[in-house]
Amino acid sequence: MLTLRTVASVSCRRCRLAKPGLEAAPLPGKWGPIILSDVCADCWRDWIEEQTRLINHERLLPSDPEHRKVLYARMSAFLNLTAEGV
Ligand SMILES: [Zn+2]
Repeated sequence: MLTLRTVASVSCRRCRLAKPGLEAAPLPGKWGPIILSDVCADCWRDWIEEQTRLINHERLLPSDPEHRKVLYARMSAFLNLTAEGV
């Protein structure tokens, strides 16, 4: 049986386009629902690439709480989520 998933379109904060969003919140905590409703799947993929680059080049460890804070700050800037006090 063929299952077709329909993903709701989001008005993306980064690329400013109405594009398909993610199927589920990609992160636990407060950022998950924000990203789900405000970031398109393409921009999220761009961030995953950027995050991988940061982890490799700046030795940021997602398992370290201090490093995670830095990564989330970079993420919110990268995805343009910092406006409007989120
Ligand atoms: Zn986008």
